[in-house]
Amino acid sequence: MIFVLNHRVDRNSFELISKARKLADKVSTKLAFLLMSCSKDGVENLKRFGPDLIILALHERFKRFSIDPFLSASSKIIEKYSPSIVLAPATTFGRTLMPALAAIFRTGLTADCTDLDIDADGNLLQTRPAIGGNVMATIMTPSHRPQMATVRPGVFEMSECDERNTIILEEKIDDVYDRCELLSVESKEAGARLEEAEIIVSVGKGLRKKENVELAFKLAKLVKGAVGASRAVVDAKWLSHDHQVGLSGKTVKPKIYMAVGISGAVQHLAGMQTSKIIVAINKDKYAPIFKIADIGIVADACWALSELIKQLERDMDGINE
Ligand SMILES: Cc1cc2nc3c(=O)[nH]c(=O)nc-3n(C[C@H](O)[C@H](O)[C@H](O)COP(=O)(O)OP(=O)(O)OC[C@H]3O[C@@H](n4cnc5c(N)ncnc54)[C@H](O)[C@@H]3O)c2cc1C
Repeated sequence: MIFVLNHRVDRNSFELISKARKLADKVSTKLAFLLMSCSKDGVENLKRFGPDLIILALHERFKRFSIDPFLSASSKIIEKYSPSIVLAPATTFGRTLMPALAAIFRTGLTADCTDLDIDADGNLLQTRPAIGGNVMATIMTPSHRPQMATVRPGVFEMSECDERNTIILEEKIDDVYDRCELLSVESKEAGARLEEAEIIVSVGKGLRKKENVELAFKLAKLVKGAVGASRAVVDAKWLSHDHQVGLSGKTVKPKIYMAVGISGAVQHLAGMQTSKIIVAINKDKYAPIFKIADIGIVADACWALSELIKQLERDMDGINE
């Protein structure tokens, strides 16, 4: 059996179930989704992606993430069902819970996978970038079970499948303890929201100075998109890490990804190369980003952004007249 864990019915759950369905079908095994949450809101939506079983572990304590209650509940349920594979999204939830679970079950964990496959013996082939993103390593856990992996959000397609008779059952959660006590909550400024954007205008050091990043925000606003960044831009403190795309940032898959003044280092490509259309703007016609670009513009970054903004504003004025 393959297990997918999450604490929310969200896009990450849909993506993981879609991929896990394909893996389960390949070796003719069952697929279960374990939802640890305070409510069963949205559970019916999960059925569209084809789990055989949905296990609900519902408790007030699952309203916010804290390791103790989630660890004790998930370890008991995993022990009961004894899956051979356990997957979770590489979010704060998965990145915190899964290593602790792997330690309990004395098994391996591959973090931040960008691809998964399965062989005829049921070995999970877990692929992730290694050695600073210069190679893709495929990792197996042949002699321990369960095999555990976290998967980067956005790397798998959400694919609905034919109706099947999904069974929903509830596991009773008792003796919940938590060594953490919530003292207060401070709201954080809304992040870059790159994961949801259909158009991303991403900036690199080719913008030359921090003030020029405003042009990217202006263009992003016009096209209702979001602003991404290379690590060089984040390191220079032009933008916060929330905007970073790549190996040590976010993985995104928008309809249009504009790489403006970005060289196209492998570590950057790791976070955006599956975007539907890639537009690259760079003054160096030999910049590596052009190798993966669908549309390439050899030009000064600020000049190109200003021209695009002018053109769009002109078009919109035309529409509003
Ligand atoms: C372990 C590890 C993890 C990493 N993780 C990430 C990551 O998550 N994301 C990431 O982005 N990087 C990451 N990096 C860093 C990565 O290797 C590159 O250093 C980084 O992506 C470079 O950013 P850049 O392209 O903006 O800057 P540069 O490499 O400085 O490139 C600037 C580009 O702008 C062009 N340019 C210059 N002037 C202009 C102009 N006037 N108009 C138009 N174009 C111009 C240049 O031709 C050049 O191509 C990581 C590195 C390591 C080792």
